[in-house]
Amino acid sequence: MLINENDVAKVLDQTDILALIGEHVGLKRVGLRHVGLCPFHSENTPSFSVNAQEGFYYCFGCHASGDAISFVRQIERLDFVSAVEYLAGKAGITLTYESEELSKHASKRSSLQAALVKAVEFYADQLLHSPGAALAREYLSSRNLDKEDWERFHLGWAPDSPAALYGHLNVSEEVFVEAGLGYMDKNGKPQDQLRARVIFPIFDSSGKPVAFGGRILPPALEDSHGQPLPKYKNSPETPLYSKRKTLYGLNLAKADVVAKGEIIICEGYTDVIAFFKAGIPRAVATCGTALTEDHLNKIKSFSKRIILAFDADNAGISATEKFYQWEKKYKLEIYVADLPKGIDPGELGQKDPDRLKIAVTGAKPFMAFRLQRLFDVGDLTSIEGRARIVDDAIAIICEHPNGLVRNDYLMQVADKCRFEMSDLHLRLEQALRSKSYFFEELDAHGNPKAPAQTHEEHADSNGALEPEFRPISAQELGLSDRP
Ligand SMILES: [Zn+2]
Repeated sequence: MLINENDVAKVLDQTDILALIGEHVGLKRVGLRHVGLCPFHSENTPSFSVNAQEGFYYCFGCHASGDAISFVRQIERLDFVSAVEYLAGKAGITLTYESEELSKHASKRSSLQAALVKAVEFYADQLLHSPGAALAREYLSSRNLDKEDWERFHLGWAPDSPAALYGHLNVSEEVFVEAGLGYMDKNGKPQDQLRARVIFPIFDSSGKPVAFGGRILPPALEDSHGQPLPKYKNSPETPLYSKRKTLYGLNLAKADVVAKGEIIICEGYTDVIAFFKAGIPRAVATCGTALTEDHLNKIKSFSKRIILAFDADNAGISATEKFYQWEKKYKLEIYVADLPKGIDPGELGQKDPDRLKIAVTGAKPFMAFRLQRLFDVGDLTSIEGRARIVDDAIAIICEHPNGLVRNDYLMQVADKCRFEMSDLHLRLEQALRSKSYFFEELDAHGNPKAPAQTHEEHADSNGALEPEFRPISAQELGLSDRP
């Protein structure tokens, strides 16, 4: 075990399990126990019971059980060490680790973490009180973001000064730079990373700040030399922050994502806020990067239904083919929100929040969405127009790895474009053959042969534990490796 065993016992001893579970479950006292609706399976009559005296919970429905640490592991999707750290943080206990190296490592991480927490507070305070933030406050109000939203998302303002944050933090230059908060200029002076920008703090899924996104105010789109400035600037990668793995808003969205079995993925911080304001608090955003496999790996245990709320048609062919592969690999269903063309969720939410709800309920499977686009812009009135649509549709359909799915969509195209299914089938086979480099091998019917079962699928089909609850190896627990 990486954390000193006495510390683990102390954490369990000082955790109020009723208060902890009460954050997620409405509990009622019945005799010596407290009962409520189980947070781990859907039910209408309570079968989840907490024994506060003994410090454990048990569900008669799904047999989930354990102590405070297992509850945190299960509900927050954390590994053992992170769960103990989470509870220690709540109880104000400083943990000691088994080896000196790990202790040093952990204390380094915790000083980076502490600097980030202080930075969140500093920026938020600037937005609320600084005279220099007047324009920022005006800008946010003009975007319908009121104080309630500032608080919920911890919005802030980075002053237009070279080292205001550094001056406030009182941390070493090393911590300042390593936390991604600033850099050393050529004269060896610390400089703030973000200046004169509205700040969107980025939290990890357990709610700890790891990075910042900064948005420039609309009038200031050029620097003093007339060079255009980027609209958004983000923290660099740090030991605490990897943008490939981080989803903005996941800490706040997690509960609703699990409850509704659905997650909405946007491209912008203000898109996420718009969904929350429209009463759909299960949206997250990538942080200035395309959707990656690491992102999906992270959310696959929260929800299998993913709704893309950005223009997925512009993602490029190599990206769209990946989506189908990921659907298969992680058993996901990828949908595309029904957004009006050319408007992002942030803008739409300002003008017509109810339309955002329609975009979610009207989401279409990824392939259906792309074919619909073709029908919408194509010419269905002439033979030539219909033939062009067929060509484009076949190029899209043959990206899908499942023959049954391909066939079904092909029938829809044949129907819509009024061509014989047998002709279309022939063309699809030709297309598949000419792109066989994409599939590893095709069988006699031009279908890709079933890929070898992956280790993960194998474990699932044997009814083994969910990957996140299997025993975690020491290497995986290596502190440097955690998100
Ligand atoms: Zn249960």
